[in-house]
Amino acid sequence: MQSPRILASDHASLAGHPPDHLITFNKATPVNLTICHDTEQQRQPTDILCSPALRSECCDLGFKYTPDSQHFMEIDRLCCQIDEPSFRAQKANTMDEMDQLHPATDTIQGPPSVLTSLYDLTRDQLAKQLGEWGEPAFRTNQIWRWMYESLVTDVDEMTDVSKSLRTKLKQHYTLSRLKPVIAQRSTDGWTRKWLLRLADGSEVETVLMEYEGVRRTACISSQAGCAMDCSFCATGQMGFLRNLRAGEIIEQVIWVARALAEDKSALPQSRAGHAGEEADRLSNVVFMGMGEPFANYNNTLEAARRLIEPSDKGGFGLGARKLTISTVGLVPGIRKFSAEGLQVNLAVSLHAATDELRSQLVPINRRYPLRELTKAVHDYIARSNRRVSFEWALIDGVNDTPEQAQALVQLVRETFDPVAEKRHMLHVNMIPLNPTHGYKGRSSQRTRIQRFCAILDAAGIPNTLRVRRGIDINAGCGQLKADSQTPSQP
Ligand code: SAH
Repeated sequence: MQSPRILASDHASLAGHPPDHLITFNKATPVNLTICHDTEQQRQPTDILCSPALRSECCDLGFKYTPDSQHFMEIDRLCCQIDEPSFRAQKANTMDEMDQLHPATDTIQGPPSVLTSLYDLTRDQLAKQLGEWGEPAFRTNQIWRWMYESLVTDVDEMTDVSKSLRTKLKQHYTLSRLKPVIAQRSTDGWTRKWLLRLADGSEVETVLMEYEGVRRTACISSQAGCAMDCSFCATGQMGFLRNLRAGEIIEQVIWVARALAEDKSALPQSRAGHAGEEADRLSNVVFMGMGEPFANYNNTLEAARRLIEPSDKGGFGLGARKLTISTVGLVPGIRKFSAEGLQVNLAVSLHAATDELRSQLVPINRRYPLRELTKAVHDYIARSNRRVSFEWALIDGVNDTPEQAQALVQLVRETFDPVAEKRHMLHVNMIPLNPTHGYKGRSSQRTRIQRFCAILDAAGIPNTLRVRRGIDINAGCGQLKADSQTPSQP
């Protein structure tokens, strides 16, 4: 059964609960919340891990929380809904400050009970391990190639590795931690989606989108669940569980790459002409599944770095420009990413061009409002000379209005006027909303989309309209997981 989800916006419904009613935030990491309407004593939430101002704010809501530090994000998410000046004053300006504000962002590498995978190891860590076992240095490359080039699923497939070493590897590590809970293929055959269970029981979604003869893109998750709470997003609607380890992020890519390699026999007839070595290879990876990549910064960057490691070094060999990290707009993350000097693409989920609307759709906007976000984007472009895409889910009557289109034009102009020649470095990537259970909005009608695009076109702002993929298999972010928990609608 899906656990209730707590949001400040749910106050009205909470008010109806009996006092001391315990509500669990989510199944895997329970945070009990006591609704205490009556006794004064219960209105002292001394154990809230946040500022006194926030505590009193929560207290005013009549709640008592008993989280431990790992659940700070949940509290944070809840408090994000409260437009409270002292909370905004806590805003992080650097990644270090963000770590202080969100102990959960980088410190959790995954629960300790999680089985160690060979994909958790960096090349240096693997070399160290093999060295400790008295193995020669060349073994590292050998094993690395089996993992990242040959994509073996079993250590015993590493045929040029001695039996005794294989036995040791198997005693200490696994190669395949992911277990498919649901595997689906769209009726047209071009989109596949998996709900994958991790070793501790958390589940993430991974999608493969094939574009006929052009590219094969894996859409991967960086966290189990998400704390950002974007109103229309199915993942946000289910709450935050935990950060993924770098190895768990990589394993999703390996999963998709293996599926492609094994998929020849299942190819639909229409694709027969495209079968061949290249047609089976994964060509792109986007961090657009569950989670906020920059709220799990180190693991995301470690995974990205490893995926773009060249194949002549035995790496996975994905071109840096074929990898896209999509962020909800965590400004410290964008700034830190700017300094990495990677050729990886950056996408920013904008969805609205005024603070008023964006704060409703994307609550983190209250902490990092548009002016700061666009400044960070501007600085990123100026420094990296890389194009950024603004993601825009078109929602009927909400953000597809001529006013929002004009505001977007204005926002782009304000952002890039100082470097007008670089205005083309910003690109708007629209997608009609994928309807989700927890959000009333609908996808924009065609005429409204055309009108919106026409305004961008007239202003010379590059834009594309993405086709929704895998509608019949709920391929939108978090939808498969949500559906596995929600009784189907009559
Ligand atoms: N946290 C990251 C990546 C996760 S989702 C981010 O916010 O960018 C990837 C993209 O899908 C984001 O642009 C997100 O806003 C969008 N998205 C989420 N739910 C959607 C829905 N129901 N319909 C259309 N786009 C959606």
